[in-house]
Amino acid sequence: MDCKDKNCPKHGTLATRGQVLEGVVVSDKMQATVIVKKDRFIKVKKYNRYRKQISKIAAHNPQCINAKSGDLVRIMECRKLSKTKNFVVVDILNKQQEEEPKEAKPVKKVSKAKKTAKKTKEVDNG
Ligand SMILES: [Zn+2]
Repeated sequence: MDCKDKNCPKHGTLATRGQVLEGVVVSDKMQATVIVKKDRFIKVKKYNRYRKQISKIAAHNPQCINAKSGDLVRIMECRKLSKTKNFVVVDILNKQQEEEPKEAKPVKKVSKAKKTAKKTKEVDNG
């Protein structure tokens, strides 16, 4: 693969060290950057229950990896790449899968259209 990104952990000169995290990409709108969301459950002692803490991390998205919104990715810590970026995407663990709801709606519409068509035919016969 032709990867000219010097900040790519596989083809460039960027060294990774420190933390390795996994999370879901929530935004891929920026150039070569994704926002990765990570959920943690933290115990609240007072109520003896858990609460969810969400952290959003900006990570560099090299062109050879090209993670999209919805992907489960592994990110690694690296040197500071910009004001907010000090992580880089190293792997896509699970590509986003499109689900059924998109198909379900058109089916309903078709059935309604058929019913109305029959009614109009009956009217014509009568
Ligand atoms: Zn690369």
